[in-house]
Amino acid sequence: MIAGALVAFAAALPLAGTTVHVDAGHNGANAAHPSQINRRVPAGTGGYRKACDTAGAQTDDGGLTEARLNLDIARRTARRLRRLGARVVMTRTGNDGVGPCVNERAAIGNRAHADLALSIHADGGPPGGRGFHVIAPTSRRTVRPKIVAPSLRFARRLRARLDAAGLRRCTYIGSGSGLVQRSDLGGLNLSRVPKAFVELANRRNPADARLLGRMRERDRIAMALARAVTRTLAR
Ligand SMILES: [Zn+2]
Repeated sequence: MIAGALVAFAAALPLAGTTVHVDAGHNGANAAHPSQINRRVPAGTGGYRKACDTAGAQTDDGGLTEARLNLDIARRTARRLRRLGARVVMTRTGNDGVGPCVNERAAIGNRAHADLALSIHADGGPPGGRGFHVIAPTSRRTVRPKIVAPSLRFARRLRARLDAAGLRRCTYIGSGSGLVQRSDLGGLNLSRVPKAFVELANRRNPADARLLGRMRERDRIAMALARAVTRTLAR
């Protein structure tokens, strides 16, 4: 029966026909190229400008940089999203480059006409603080205020899935809400498609750093991120 087959197909590929921009924060060679990374670029309305990018949260654990971790989680998430039927556009697939700048990161999602954009980060907060938080845009400085409401809905779904995955909410930002709105992030301000950032944990906290070092936890995080996208986009 055709109708039954279509229902089965939609259930198997709930993201068929959608495009998701997955943005792994920073890049592996940023720290070695300060003049490129520190140059100021457009980052919001009203002439707001900001540095192209940063090197990412620095920790003293040597090997695993934030840029590398972000890419690993981004790849795991992208794999899941593709399996669910989405077309995935990645900002970067390697960790040897510089940038792109925050304005270009937003432009990638815009050019792809993404249904959703997700920027993946891991914070460098106070060593005593733990946990994840999600960041959504505000109407201040955004080029397209219409994206604020859907971005906030997506951010709440991300929080719900990360909660369900057993991650703790941030103890040092957001007063335990696990969600903040910011107007100082060019990647959000310049997005014309609904977008949120996740700061998955605090890499300066030893317990959080251990958690992010475990492959099983990274898979669990990627699953939570993909589920949040599915809950937001699936019809
Ligand atoms: Zn970051």
